[in-house]
Amino acid sequence: MTQTVPDDVTQFLSGASQSILVGGQRRRALSGRTLETLDPATGKVLTEIAAGAAEDVDAAVASAVVAQQEWAARKPSARGRALADLAQLVEDHAEQLATLETLDNGKPLTESLYVDSAIATDVWRYYAGSPTRLGGDVLPVSPLVGDAFAYSRREPLGVVAAIVPWNFPLLISSWKIAPALAAGNAVVVKPSEVTSLTALRLAELALEAGLPPGLLNVVTGLGREAGRALVSHPQVDKVTFTGSTATGREILRASATNLAKVTLELGGKSANIVFGDADLSAAVDGALAGIFLNQGQVCCAGSRLFVHRSVHDEVVARLVEAARGISLGHGLDGDTDMGPLVSQVQLERVQGFVSGAVEEGAHLAVGGVRAGGELSDGFFLEPTVFTGVADGMTIAQEEVFGPVLSVLVFDDEDEVVRRANASVYGLAAGVWTRDLARAHRVAHRLQAGTVWVNMYNMLDPAAPFGGFKDSGYGRDLGEEALLGNTQTKSVWVNLD
Ligand code: NAD
Repeated sequence: MTQTVPDDVTQFLSGASQSILVGGQRRRALSGRTLETLDPATGKVLTEIAAGAAEDVDAAVASAVVAQQEWAARKPSARGRALADLAQLVEDHAEQLATLETLDNGKPLTESLYVDSAIATDVWRYYAGSPTRLGGDVLPVSPLVGDAFAYSRREPLGVVAAIVPWNFPLLISSWKIAPALAAGNAVVVKPSEVTSLTALRLAELALEAGLPPGLLNVVTGLGREAGRALVSHPQVDKVTFTGSTATGREILRASATNLAKVTLELGGKSANIVFGDADLSAAVDGALAGIFLNQGQVCCAGSRLFVHRSVHDEVVARLVEAARGISLGHGLDGDTDMGPLVSQVQLERVQGFVSGAVEEGAHLAVGGVRAGGELSDGFFLEPTVFTGVADGMTIAQEEVFGPVLSVLVFDDEDEVVRRANASVYGLAAGVWTRDLARAHRVAHRLQAGTVWVNMYNMLDPAAPFGGFKDSGYGRDLGEEALLGNTQTKSVWVNLD
């Protein structure tokens, strides 16, 4: 496997140890420590990033506090223009950002380009329109004495901490940072230590777009050092987090000390339901995309595929055949359909779920093994499908976060809704049917923050995204994310 890496990307990688961006300046960690970041397709060191810690976080928050004042004092139209300029720069650098993402995370370049870079651009463009739309209300008050005019204002919170995972580094950074900035806040982002590169490049582009230095700061480093220091910082007013449930709980505990507002997106175990009357070709394509996009490392992955008994065998046969045809490889190779898992740790975690499922009695229909040959140094797992999965099995309850599909059989609508909802999670769900009434009925009954009908994994900046139940609270994207980065002030004016 030899890939040609464009010069601009090689140059960026060579300076990556200066990955802390504070007050508009890139530098190393104050401690001088670094962390290796690997190319997951080869297992080789890609570059080194700065291992930031509490003192770097202090500097970043201090510079964010100052820059926020300047930003919030700009006219809404000026803020909107700067964000639109950044959207344009993200689009102009789509290929560079996508290449970095593929090298860092492993996903195929086509995905990095047409999902991550493309939606990130749309997200920046969408929120570029927000500053000039963010208004308040005239309040129909009835004062106890005299008369008054009252109105509400949506004001920024101050400093927002964005804690970003490794599965969609550019995209999730964008959908956390863009609404926060649009609402007049400053941001300190702590990307995952495994995939920090695109957040850093994005922050450089923000400077190029004319955002004030210090408005968007990046502190790379470990979660237990830089991340912990950031979420518990007394001058952080909000934490927006995507990642594991365990870390989400820890962030909530930290918010008891600084009273930061918290938005959590914690993953899921989403049900994708294929009824007997569905267009089976579309449903099978949707099921495959639902579980194999980004190697299954997707919080809303359709990892529980409920298939009606009448079409079960046919759906399984098509899934297995398609899974066998998926070609694994380096994400920069043109004929790669699926890349490696993000890290050795993640590969081992997923392999643990696979062997556990076999022990619990699920039938391994295809995959389940680490790829060998020239891929053996990378963190590749063959696309995996289990059949005969029962609701109580670990593989049907816990988030695997890998290319592992569990197929469950069902007989009727009430039963499948009850079983789909029998999860601690409630992030997303899919429904495949030609029956319009059933599509809406089931969509309304499913306990999930997003339900897709005859489609899967569709995201758009206009559609709020987030979870019911243990999948978290608060919403990314849409107007809700914008409002979630504001606080309401009521202004009363005495008219007497
Ligand atoms: P994680 O929750 O540990 O990491 C996510 C982010 O939180 C990273 O930036 C990390 O540095 C930071 N972090 C970790 N501990 C922190 C702390 N105490 N305070 C502040 N920030 C902290 O997730 P992980 O270990 O990378 O992955 C573990 C599992 O989490 C995965 O197998 C998967 O099931 C789940 N996960 C879910 C999502 C999602 O999109 N919902 C994303 C990544 C991982």
